Amino acid sequence: MSSKPKVLVLGGNFAGLGTAQKIRQFAGDSVDITVVDRKNYLLFIPNIPADVFENSDPASSQRMDLIPVLAKDHIQFVQGDVTGIDVDNRSVHFTPSERPGGAPGKLDYDYLVIALGNRLAFEKIEGFAEYGDSVSDLYLGNRLREKLWNGGYQGGPIAIGSARFHQGDGAEGLEPYPGGSIPNAVAACEGPPVEVMLSAATYLKKTGQGGPEKITVFTPGELIAEDAGEQVVGQLLDIASGMGFNYVNNAEDIRRITAEGVELANGQTIEAELKIIFPDWVAHDFMRDLPITDSEGFVVTDLLMKNPKYPEIFAAGDAAAVTVPKLGAIGHQECEIVGRQIALAVGRMSEKAANTPLQPVVNCIGDMGDNQAFYIRSNSWYGGSEQVLKMGHIPFLLKMQYKNLFFRTQGKVPDWGLDFSKLMAEKLSA
Ligand SMILES: Cc1cc2nc3c(=O)[nH]c(=O)nc-3n(C[C@H](O)[C@H](O)[C@H](O)COP(=O)(O)OP(=O)(O)OC[C@H]3O[C@@H](n4cnc5c(N)ncnc54)[C@H](O)[C@@H]3O)c2cc1C
Repeated sequence: MSSKPKVLVLGGNFAGLGTAQKIRQFAGDSVDITVVDRKNYLLFIPNIPADVFENSDPASSQRMDLIPVLAKDHIQFVQGDVTGIDVDNRSVHFTPSERPGGAPGKLDYDYLVIALGNRLAFEKIEGFAEYGDSVSDLYLGNRLREKLWNGGYQGGPIAIGSARFHQGDGAEGLEPYPGGSIPNAVAACEGPPVEVMLSAATYLKKTGQGGPEKITVFTPGELIAEDAGEQVVGQLLDIASGMGFNYVNNAEDIRRITAEGVELANGQTIEAELKIIFPDWVAHDFMRDLPITDSEGFVVTDLLMKNPKYPEIFAAGDAAAVTVPKLGAIGHQECEIVGRQIALAVGRMSEKAANTPLQPVVNCIGDMGDNQAFYIRSNSWYGGSEQVLKMGHIPFLLKMQYKNLFFRTQGKVPDWGLDFSKLMAEKLSA
């Protein structure tokens, strides 16, 4: 048996795969790494909406097989459902999920990375199963695609929006930029509703069923996608209202969904045939009440992604309290930090090289249909000074190319790829 420190990474999607690869890059062969996930592929969630509105099956284009990708870096994979974490005994409980009936198992660790994402709580929304739609996974995406393209949708009004997000207290007091903070969000991630609103309008136009005037986008908050910065959102809203979209803010929450529409917690009802919903993003049940999680079950870390009470435990991606909004692009930044921290802990990196804290940047490219997309890069919500919005064909090409580059490099998108995207989007588009 190897005597190397054991690193256990829980979750194998963006944050889990990215962190495992960064640990191998920075800590080299000084550690054994194991990734645990209940499924054995990476799901490229951000591109599901584009497939749905183009009538293309996301199941055949948005999955990447994990096992050979991990094997290239000598990373073990366990297909299992994580059921508990024993932080005092440094072990994780799981049930093998390849076949039903697996006997529960236990994995020990020296360092633990929690990258399990969240549970998208559709089941908390009354009426969603019967009358709601979404684009957050292959099942829901394909169900909506079927309605849009095979006659289920009759051309009526469309409502698109989010349920209220319940952020915990785990990021309070952090100061990512001088004088800044991790603010409280009332929606988990509102790039996708904005993207779906624009793509749905293009779909309506293309299929001769109308345009933006049929679509109402709603937000629980004062301002949709407020994390992108007031200036950027103001510009987006001006453009959207000029195009004819309807906008409802301060919805507070979704009360229920009926055949006729969406009933909001503020008492308003939006009449709609199609209800495309983004639910509350909640922590997994077994994460609640652990000594490493906050009032809502998200993992508490500092800006080096390390738990203050259990310094051998790290988090990356949506599972971390500090990741607000729940955005893959912020998780991407965190993978690098965790990789460096573990390399530091095993003596493979200096403090100077490892200790660069998280400065979150909201980086979002949203499909608008018709080969157009919007590009946002902003850190003003956290106390930074940047807010950039671009729209056009170049952001669309970048969105598609990013996915291709991700698959081609098997998750190891080089820094030049990101710098190139920034240059292209910000210098070459309108
Ligand atoms: C429609 C949509 C569009 C989006 N578009 C964008 C975008 O354009 N840009 C962007 O930056 N972000 C976007 N996001 C957000 C982005 O998808 C998430 O931030 C990102 O997926 C988070 O990555 P993660 O690895 O932390 O979590 P996840 O991607 O949720 O992965 C968690 C992993 O953990 C595994 N897992 C969970 N529980 C268990 C368990 N108990 N046992 C074993 N395994 C488990 C899951 O199988 C999964 O593989 C979008 C989200 C949606 C829904």
